[in-house]
Amino acid sequence: KFSRPHRLGFGSFNPTGKIPLGLKRKGLRIVVTGGAGFVGSHLVDRLIARGDSVIVVDNFFTGRKENVMHHFGNPNFELIRHDVVEPLLLEVDQIYHLACPASPTNVVGTLNMLGLAKRVGARFLLTSTSEVYGDPLQHPQKETYWGNVNPIGVRSCYDEGKRTAETLTMDYHRGAEVEVRIARIFNTYGPRMCIDDGRVVSNFVAQALRKEPLTVYGDGKQTRSFQYVSDLVEGLMRLMEGEHIGPFNLGNPGEFTMLELAEVVQETIDPNAKIEFRPNTEDDPHKRKPDIGRAKELLGWEPKVSLRHGLPLMVSEFRQHSATSVRNFAA
Ligand code: NAD
Ligand code: UDP
Ligand code: UDP
Repeated sequence: KFSRPHRLGFGSFNPTGKIPLGLKRKGLRIVVTGGAGFVGSHLVDRLIARGDSVIVVDNFFTGRKENVMHHFGNPNFELIRHDVVEPLLLEVDQIYHLACPASPTNVVGTLNMLGLAKRVGARFLLTSTSEVYGDPLQHPQKETYWGNVNPIGVRSCYDEGKRTAETLTMDYHRGAEVEVRIARIFNTYGPRMCIDDGRVVSNFVAQALRKEPLTVYGDGKQTRSFQYVSDLVEGLMRLMEGEHIGPFNLGNPGEFTMLELAEVVQETIDPNAKIEFRPNTEDDPHKRKPDIGRAKELLGWEPKVSLRHGLPLMVSEFRQHSATSVRNFAA
């Protein structure tokens, strides 16, 4: 049945797969797909610190070994180079499914990880996205909003892929009784963010450090809400451990236009940084801001780090990183 199974894992297998919630338990076996990436590697740090055994499954498409290298040699840590588009056999209690290229393979990878969760009775958490709301007609967005996504647009591969992933997740829950959790993550930034993946925060920070103009797309009046990575990881862990399926918006409700974001970057790095306007991409959402009422009430969660506090933390890491691997930074 499994064409190229990859059979690995820790210790003995708990056939019930159930986590005794509320009990202080040690040594969960947890797989984090995409664990060598930006968010995943921070999540892995927290899980390892808590005493769990963590298997990272990553194909290094955008992730980096350097993000998890500090765990090498720890017997509770294992790194598997594997593409989740291929089936995978593991024995685990929880699956944090973060691996996701912006393409339909995101759906196949999700299907495989749900199949894995079903087989071993593990709890499965999907990192979905605020992009499921598309260019929203409701503001701020509540989880009950069904969204406004162009199915044939340039962004739809990612958006519809995640929407399908949510559908699959709920189908496995209803049809195969897999315990599932769904997080809808809003724009997140912080250390280890990929410096060249084109996201606005990493672009502006890298540009300001390189003494290049900050590239604002369109008129810069579109808004986003930026969440610091440690707040997100706390929310993901509460969601996994709690009893609610979701979906839950996980984001910082502080809303900024791109021009305001550019100002914060100027204040933080270089007041003389110039702004350069560029044409915007097609189907760019005009505004985005999470309603986090549900997460506050049911997970007892809300973000703690504001953009003005979080941005400097990211900048110092980018500066350090620039010293070793990125050229042409005026540090
Ligand atoms: P990232 O690119 O840093 O991490 C994704 C990781 O998955 C990388 O390490 C990559 O190598 C790995 N990966 C990709 N395809 C794979 C495959 N087929 N098999 C195995 N590994 C694979 O991105 P991130 O920002 O850390 O995002 C993590 C998750 O959170 C993703 O699912 C993303 O869609 C979701 N998300 C992130 C944000 C954000 O602002 N960062 C917002 C919404 C949703
Ligand atoms: N799968 C996997 N690891 C497992 C169990 C399943 O990768 O431990 C994959 C499997 O190869 C299949 C997908 O998950 O492609 C869905 O599995 P499921 O058993 O739900 O579906 P079926 O194979 O019965 O269609
Ligand atoms: N953006 C920008 N300059 C850049 C990169 C992005 O003004 O160098 C804008 C982009 O048009 C969008 C917003 O910033 O309106 C957020 O883009 P990002 O790709 O970071 O996130 P997403 O669009 O997925 O929310």
